[in-house]
Amino acid sequence: MLLISVRALVMTGALMVAAGTLASSQELPAPEAWAALERGDGSRAAAIFRDALDRAPHNPLLHYGSAHASLLLGRTDAAISSLKKAVEQNPRFMPAMVLLAQVAYSAADLDLAVRSLEKAVAMAPRDRELTAQLAKWKKETDLHQSFQTRPGVRFNVLFEGPAQRAIGDRVSAVLESAYSSIGKQLDIYPGAALEVILYSNKQFRDITRAPEWSGGGYDGRIRLPVGNALRSPQVLDRVVVHEYVHSAVRTAAPTGVPAWINEGLASYLEPGDKTWAARVLKASGDRIPLEDMVEGFGGFDGPTALLAYAESQVAAELLVERLKPHVGAFLQLLGNGHTVDQALSRHGVPPETFYAEWRRRVGVRDATR
Ligand SMILES: [Zn+2]
Repeated sequence: MLLISVRALVMTGALMVAAGTLASSQELPAPEAWAALERGDGSRAAAIFRDALDRAPHNPLLHYGSAHASLLLGRTDAAISSLKKAVEQNPRFMPAMVLLAQVAYSAADLDLAVRSLEKAVAMAPRDRELTAQLAKWKKETDLHQSFQTRPGVRFNVLFEGPAQRAIGDRVSAVLESAYSSIGKQLDIYPGAALEVILYSNKQFRDITRAPEWSGGGYDGRIRLPVGNALRSPQVLDRVVVHEYVHSAVRTAAPTGVPAWINEGLASYLEPGDKTWAARVLKASGDRIPLEDMVEGFGGFDGPTALLAYAESQVAAELLVERLKPHVGAFLQLLGNGHTVDQALSRHGVPPETFYAEWRRRVGVRDATR
């Protein structure tokens, strides 16, 4: 399952601007760029901020805005670099410091995340939310420092001790093979090394706050509870590939992918039996419309989540059928700000026929989609 989305970070940042933490919008430099950000037009905003920065390279607000544009475009590294410049120019620039911490965390740079949040907490020691967040991240850092690493070219697997080494070896092997098999199916080959952390079941719940039903999580790194993993190695393999698909999707489209596509692809491309989805759909009279499955499934209870995964898997199967071998290119369109309907149309799939076929396959008779 997905634990956090970069989109959520962008919105938090934009809200901070809107809440007047910085200044009223009239006082912001390059007002058209901020307006473009509000519209979600990252390319336009990035271009205007770039021009403005040519004239005023030391303006922290312009670097901050530029970081938002980068986040909208899914360019995490560029966002981090802009935010570093913003806080370099103004070390007391609170929203930039907090956003830097959040983006660093989402990019699996826990050191930078903790360092930045420490500075933010020093500026606002009464902010309980920030203090609690910092305590949580420090706990995570301490835990990881006690872990061993099985380093690789594409995957760094962290695990607690000798007892988990065998699981670490298995996870590495499964990931190496997923890299080429999923790569072939989606035409996505992540370039950056991916961090994979194996937890006890309790550590996993503590760190992720994931619901009971989740068997793993992805938030920039793969987190897996492996308490009894070797008793059911097939389940472990399934979860590992599922979470790997999320990381591949994020490579193609860091933002803009609805959960029903993201979770659907992850479920559809997992190894193992696919007939469970039909059984779940048959057993339930309810159907969740696609528009209610845009954000992650973390807020659903167990049975609702299962239904959401089943419906999404059917949608993903249909997507792959219709788009093959262009699923990766389709996802890139979503990442570049196209809607699902626009991206389908671009690939010659009329959205209405797509949704009608999905409704037929999941067994919806009314006009819901
Ligand atoms: Zn998932």
